[in-house]
Amino acid sequence: MVPLNRHIVRLRRKSPVLLLALLAALLALWAQRRPASKLTHLRVVRVVDGDTIVLSDGRTVRYIGIDTPEQGQPYYDAARNFNRKLVAGKQVELEFDVERYDHYGRLLAYVFVRDSKGRRIFVNAEMVRNGFARTYTKPPNVRYAEMFVRLQEEARKNRRGLWSVYRPTRQPVVGNRNTRTFHRLTCPLAKRIRPHNRVRFRNAEAALQAGYHPCRECRP
Ligand SMILES: [Zn+2]
Repeated sequence: MVPLNRHIVRLRRKSPVLLLALLAALLALWAQRRPASKLTHLRVVRVVDGDTIVLSDGRTVRYIGIDTPEQGQPYYDAARNFNRKLVAGKQVELEFDVERYDHYGRLLAYVFVRDSKGRRIFVNAEMVRNGFARTYTKPPNVRYAEMFVRLQEEARKNRRGLWSVYRPTRQPVVGNRNTRTFHRLTCPLAKRIRPHNRVRFRNAEAALQAGYHPCRECRP
């Protein structure tokens, strides 16, 4: 049997290493939690639509947490033009969340630019605040989800942009906890939601307030 004091000596000898390892782990954790964002040398060379841009290094960036109208939908042009006004030709600052890419290979980011007075503009938030985007909460990228819902409420109450033409249904709707989409009860997609992901709301407004976004098929 090894005497106890020798055990202690061994532990003491090891402890600086353990301490360093612990410190390194904590540092890594801290670095991960701290949003890494700084003004890059990258510029916006193309504004695809209200929530997608192309950078000077060729990468396509999809804004996190928001969704703007698709081609053919009301406010598609308005959203793209507003986005263009905010970012076209500018240097961008990118902040990332947990997932870096979507399944189309687009870089997912919170995008910041400077306006003519040097003020920092949070582009994703501005799109929502001005009624050109809906919130699109898709876990695990949810860092600013609550802020976006708050801004959407502000836009909706003031009937800004797309909210000026949107008439949410007063009928009960059903949401999908996983995708955060909500549907009319009659929507074929609603019937496919798995029981443990189903959540009922008394109407579309309640679903919007909970951060869910309306289905593009049934438009509740
Ligand atoms: Zn639907």
